[in-house]
Amino acid sequence: MSKYDVIVLGSGPGGYVTAIRASQLGLKTAVVEKENLGGVCLNWGCIPTKALLKSAQVFDYLNHAEDYGLSVTGADKDFTKVVKRSRNVAEGMSKGVQFLMKKNKIDVINGFGKLKPGKKVDVDGTEYSADHIVIATGARSRELPNLPQDGKKVIGYREAMTLEKQPKSMIVVGSGAIGVEFAHFYNTMGTEVTIVEYLPNLVPVEDIDVSKQFEKSFKKAGIKVMTSSSVESVDTSGDTVKATVKTKKGEEILEADVVLSAVGIATNLEGIGLEDVGIVTDKGKVMVNEWYQTNMPGYYAIGDITPGPALAHVASAEGILCVEKIAGEHCEPIDYGNIPGCTYATPEIASVGMTEAQAKEAGYELKVGKFPFSASGKASAAGTKDGFVKVIFDAKYGEWLGCHMIGAGVTDMIAEAVLGRKLETTGHEVLKTIHPHPTMSEAVMEAVADAYDEVIHL
Ligand SMILES: Cc1cc2nc3c(=O)[nH]c(=O)nc-3n(C[C@H](O)[C@H](O)[C@H](O)COP(=O)(O)OP(=O)(O)OC[C@H]3O[C@@H](n4cnc5c(N)ncnc54)[C@H](O)[C@@H]3O)c2cc1C
Repeated sequence: MSKYDVIVLGSGPGGYVTAIRASQLGLKTAVVEKENLGGVCLNWGCIPTKALLKSAQVFDYLNHAEDYGLSVTGADKDFTKVVKRSRNVAEGMSKGVQFLMKKNKIDVINGFGKLKPGKKVDVDGTEYSADHIVIATGARSRELPNLPQDGKKVIGYREAMTLEKQPKSMIVVGSGAIGVEFAHFYNTMGTEVTIVEYLPNLVPVEDIDVSKQFEKSFKKAGIKVMTSSSVESVDTSGDTVKATVKTKKGEEILEADVVLSAVGIATNLEGIGLEDVGIVTDKGKVMVNEWYQTNMPGYYAIGDITPGPALAHVASAEGILCVEKIAGEHCEPIDYGNIPGCTYATPEIASVGMTEAQAKEAGYELKVGKFPFSASGKASAAGTKDGFVKVIFDAKYGEWLGCHMIGAGVTDMIAEAVLGRKLETTGHEVLKTIHPHPTMSEAVMEAVADAYDEVIHL
């Protein structure tokens, strides 16, 4: 039986990053994977969706070339090629992980891994053992009982990024990051899109100002928005899908070629031997402490299968911390209050920390500043004036409580706020940090200036 220091079950951004860090720390490591290396993120999530969104952005630029004094005739799309490009990008990334495994001398064991007592993993009949087993089996699209996915007319995200033919119309159920990214992609490509959200606002976890601006932009782009509404049932018996939607005003029947269910994720915990080993789960998640240790010594869990935000960068950070602790490094638990969240539709959204409502609820006295991109030179030059940066500070000690951005390129700008908060930066320190001109990032400095009544360009 092959013996390792660490076996990682699953090779998503949680698993493969864990394996690399373990190997760097001198631990003999193997990773078990039943599909392609890279997990959902590289193969079915973060990366292929961003490739699709890039195609949509280029198409949009071509269609609006006149706004920039250019003329483009005959701009058209080839949906099959757009999908193929996205698949090629994903495949390339997965091959990249294969290279990284080799480079770091990590054994890749292909097959379905099942945990066994005594710190063993069975992979399709062969047993492997390790001193430490890190479970990182991730998640899949969640199915609602009244919205069963048949993969054809009612689909999840995997089908949504590999459709053979572009649908003429689509109903997107759920307006979290996945739902709105697909809604934006298909709408830009020319599909008639309706988005149905149960809560009163789109992107409901965001600051209310961001949600409102986002809804305005989606409506302006021609997407039909139905908030405070829920899909009660679907009828797939005909050529199209008929969805019965409960709204505040009563029931409405919507008809479309396809319904995309984007109502969250379900964890991959079935059949992996958790019960045999005695590992405790709660509400579909594996329970862990701040070092990702389960209740069973030698078994750990990270990523989407544990409580906390289901994001690639969180899975990776958890995996790194988990093996650093195993290797006896000095570690600090992850600060779950300082995790950035990004949505890559148009407009983009990026946020970290508390919303204004949460900060008020927590009893803080606030200094809130806002800087619209309509007042930004770079945004004017780029033709991307929709959006803003909003910052929230504690009035008493100057603590940076939250930062919320909406607009072009903000997903690349949020790291400033994350780092600032990590370093316990005060508003005045941000103000005195010289930002390059002209950049979208100046809006962060100006928003902070607004909070302290020192704004220059408003
Ligand atoms: C459409 C979409 C877009 C997304 N976009 C973003 C984004 O832009 N940014 C972001 O941060 N997050 C994004 N996410 C979320 C992100 O993909 C996940 O949070 C991340 O992949 C979780 O990583 P993980 O390692 O926990 O699990 P996963 O990536 O799900 O990987 C788990 C791996 O384990 C394997 N596995 C499972 N069971 C077994 C078994 N028994 N034996 C062997 N192998 C097994 C699976 O095949 C899989 O490869 C997106 C998700 C989706 C669906």
